[in-house]
Amino acid sequence: MTLSNSLISLQQTDQQLLEKKQTFVTLQNEIQSQGGLIKLREQCEKQKQQELEAKLEVARLQSELNSLKSKVSEIEQRLYGGSITNVKELNAIEIEYSSMRRNLAQVEESIPSNEKIAAEANEKFSEFSKRLKDTEEDWKLRLVKIHGQAKAIMDEYNNMLLERKKEQSNISKEFLDHYNRISKSNPGSAIVKVDRGVCQGCLVKLPMSESNKIRLAEKPIIGSCCNRLLIFSK
Ligand SMILES: [Zn+2]
Repeated sequence: MTLSNSLISLQQTDQQLLEKKQTFVTLQNEIQSQGGLIKLREQCEKQKQQELEAKLEVARLQSELNSLKSKVSEIEQRLYGGSITNVKELNAIEIEYSSMRRNLAQVEESIPSNEKIAAEANEKFSEFSKRLKDTEEDWKLRLVKIHGQAKAIMDEYNNMLLERKKEQSNISKEFLDHYNRISKSNPGSAIVKVDRGVCQGCLVKLPMSESNKIRLAEKPIIGSCCNRLLIFSK
């Protein structure tokens, strides 16, 4: 195998290692979030809390309404009872009466909206609870599957690492070091082809002389464009 082919093969192995690692991380994240169970539990809790708060608010408003109603009827008795003879006093009571009626109307109006909030929260709670129950069931099976998958990927990953060791033994230290260095910032494109004079790593057109040099070279050439290892595209 030529040096270029060895490097390309190493790069492919590295890409596969990266993919395995990413799959492994995805599985781990799923385990951590318990397949969305943690979030669902939080959502249930939030709706329950919201329902409770809205219900408390309804109770508070109702008690306020009752107290306002009894005050209003008290004033009405005084207003229409005929016991007040002083005009000034009558005016003052009338002002108090109308302000109290306004309050009463406001309180009365805000009860239904809070009842609605409580009902909606209750509905959402039931919905989330059902989903939670289903997810809990599914999760037990899924978890077993995930553990199996994670183990298989780990095994594949370790085997691939051994493969990589073999592959890198075919590559001289000078090229291997350069490949590893460039790979860090450009995973999957440390060694690239030059196609019609254009570096396929950074898409810069190379000078004709450099392009020719790469075409004739037996080993990859470090590109003046981006430091990647360049080979000729046949
Ligand atoms: Zn380049």
